[in-house]
Amino acid sequence: MSKLTGKVAIVTGGNSGIGYATAKELKNQGATVVITGRDSLKVVKASQELGVKGIVADVKNLSAIDKLVEEVKKAYEKIDILFVNAGIFQPAAVGQISEEMFDYQMGINFKGALFTTEKFLPILSDGASIINLSSINAYTGMPNTAVYAASKAALNAYTRTAATELAPRKIRVNSVNPGPVSTPIFGKTLMKEEQLNGFAEAMQNRIPLKRFGQPEDIAKLVCFLASDDASFITGSEYNIDGGININPLLN
Ligand code: NAD
Repeated sequence: MSKLTGKVAIVTGGNSGIGYATAKELKNQGATVVITGRDSLKVVKASQELGVKGIVADVKNLSAIDKLVEEVKKAYEKIDILFVNAGIFQPAAVGQISEEMFDYQMGINFKGALFTTEKFLPILSDGASIINLSSINAYTGMPNTAVYAASKAALNAYTRTAATELAPRKIRVNSVNPGPVSTPIFGKTLMKEEQLNGFAEAMQNRIPLKRFGQPEDIAKLVCFLASDDASFITGSEYNIDGGININPLLN
């Protein structure tokens, strides 16, 4: 029997990148998987490829999360794994941060993530595992990431408090903090191709293991945290970053 057999897993933002790879790995390990996303064509395409259920739900919109929970409840009653992964990256320099971009990025990465858990709580099984997809940016001073970093640091603060408060139900809550991972997220910024290439090269040179992460690297860690092998782990954060957060001064 596979490790996650009999468990129902939700992956927000499961039509692309880390969410897609994790949905695939959760399914390989025996879980029944539901992916969500905000673009219906992409959700349908990914759910067909993966052979899992797909539901459109924009996490910016709290009533869409309510509807998502209702639909999941109707189909499965309870869930065991909640991977809170949906997120965006919008770089902006200090001094050029608009209220609109603040609200948009915090609205998805923090408010949307927090309310995903809040609204799924009634249908989470006792002993469930929640994994919040954060970032090492929560702890770095990387230029142009002030709002993104704050959104992820806030999410990690919620992880710690939620872990304490949900422990009586044996619900575990952990954060995963990736370094740079090869996904479409960077192409969705307003950066031009040569900027993106320059960014990727500079970043790769700073990573002690000298490569970007792959979505599958993150998927394996998420599946471990989702499994009963991690039954004594809660309120923790896992950097998965090829060592970049060691921040070597000489390289
Ligand atoms: P991606 O762009 O490939 O995937 C993002 C997913 O989130 C997509 O499925 C998208 O539909 C979904 N999404 C975005 N806004 C949404 C909304 N309002 N409602 C519902 N779904 C929404 O990017 P990715 O790199 O796979 O990102 C996944 C997570 O990983 C994000 O939270 C991101 O911040 C985090 N992360 C990524 C990296 C990296 O280098 N790629 C590093 C650290 C953390």
